[in-house]
Amino acid sequence: MNSTCWLADRYPELALQPLWDYMRKRQVLFQSPLVAACFAFSAHLFFCTPYLLLDLLGDRWQWIYKYRIDGRTNESFQLRRWLDCLRRIILKYLSGILPSVALLQSLRGQSLPDEAPSCFLALKEIVMCLLLFDTFFFGWHYFMHRVPWLFQQVHRAHHQNHNTFALAAQDASIAELVSLQTLAQGTAALVHCHPVSEVVFHLLNTYLAVDDHCGYDLPWALHRLLPCFSGARYHQAHHQKYKGNYAPYFRHWDWIFGTTLVEDSTRPRHEADVHEHG
Ligand SMILES: [Zn+2]
Ligand SMILES: [Zn+2]
Repeated sequence: MNSTCWLADRYPELALQPLWDYMRKRQVLFQSPLVAACFAFSAHLFFCTPYLLLDLLGDRWQWIYKYRIDGRTNESFQLRRWLDCLRRIILKYLSGILPSVALLQSLRGQSLPDEAPSCFLALKEIVMCLLLFDTFFFGWHYFMHRVPWLFQQVHRAHHQNHNTFALAAQDASIAELVSLQTLAQGTAALVHCHPVSEVVFHLLNTYLAVDDHCGYDLPWALHRLLPCFSGARYHQAHHQKYKGNYAPYFRHWDWIFGTTLVEDSTRPRHEADVHEHG
């Protein structure tokens, strides 16, 4: 175990070595494209489940819908919307994600390090991955909106959801899903991530995408605790305006490039109009 991790020294239960030993013993399983694709799909569904429950419970307790960003407090739960989206995502996993995971896995080396990363190193790698992926995504997203052919062929499918909901985070064309998966894996490779850090990064990546699309502005949302994060209201504005707020997780790139959509605070929040700043 890396002795530089004072946190792990002080709290041995936080040490990552047992987790890493467990993963290494099941190396064949974890490196299987089918397992990786199933894990990614299951994680997405898992993170979507609380919002599915909110939609279901909102039918019974209308006060829940006051947290909906679109302000549609009288609309009943749309099971058809969730099922149609789920069917599209499953088809795209089978036809696009699974083959691309197999290809990317075959291009990667099979050797794994013996030691787990220290807690500090894992945290540093995960933060670097999030910042770098946010940068790549911002550039790619901006580019897809500025080149009409790219928008029509690659990105338009993701914009079919004018009002977002959690599952819609992965409701995109095969080309876009594969491009984002390649960006995420390329980011981890550039940072030279330890596999433990990489798994956590991919999980956080999935969670933050669901958080962006969930359609609820809840009091405990991440962007309320850490204002550097963009959040669901920020990304919903992008879906409604088809421009601006291009970054997925943080606010700094849109601020730097003047592409932030600012709300008109004089109107009710759910009716607030937005316009591109700068
Ligand atoms: Zn989106
Ligand atoms: Zn877009």
